[in-house]
Amino acid sequence: MFRIGEGYDVHRLTEGRDLILCGVKIPHSRGLLGHSDADVAVHALMDALLGALALDDIGTLFPDTDPAYAGADSMILLRRVMALPPFREWKIANCDITIEAQRPKIMPHRPAMRHNLAQALELPVDAVSVKATTTEKLGFVGREEGIAARAVVLLKKISR
Ligand code: MG
Repeated sequence: MFRIGEGYDVHRLTEGRDLILCGVKIPHSRGLLGHSDADVAVHALMDALLGALALDDIGTLFPDTDPAYAGADSMILLRRVMALPPFREWKIANCDITIEAQRPKIMPHRPAMRHNLAQALELPVDAVSVKATTTEKLGFVGREEGIAARAVVLLKKISR
């Protein structure tokens, strides 16, 4: 009746890119490097969703060698994942995302992030959690070389 999924992603911070997290453009001196918009939080969430149903990961579904996904809006990719036939039989009970970033402050953007995800997933906002942490200046996140995100989702079988 239930399936659980976990996802993890990392993208490198670089100059000359927008910083987009959960579909929200966050003012910052640098953004995340990637073939798509590099929305690391949504990438982790998509992999959690796919993992819950033991489907292909996003690297396989949306290969970074495919020019169709250059600069792609990850929120659109998220909707595309949810439109995959296996998801017809499942509803999301809740999802929980943790963003690891030394800077900038994520907290002020949480309401917009949760709202965005809730809309894309057709869920009430209280089923969508977005949290953030620094790594106390430790590791690649602490050195501001990149931002990491992890996500977990719980799926519940739709009873007919
Ligand atoms: Mg990624």
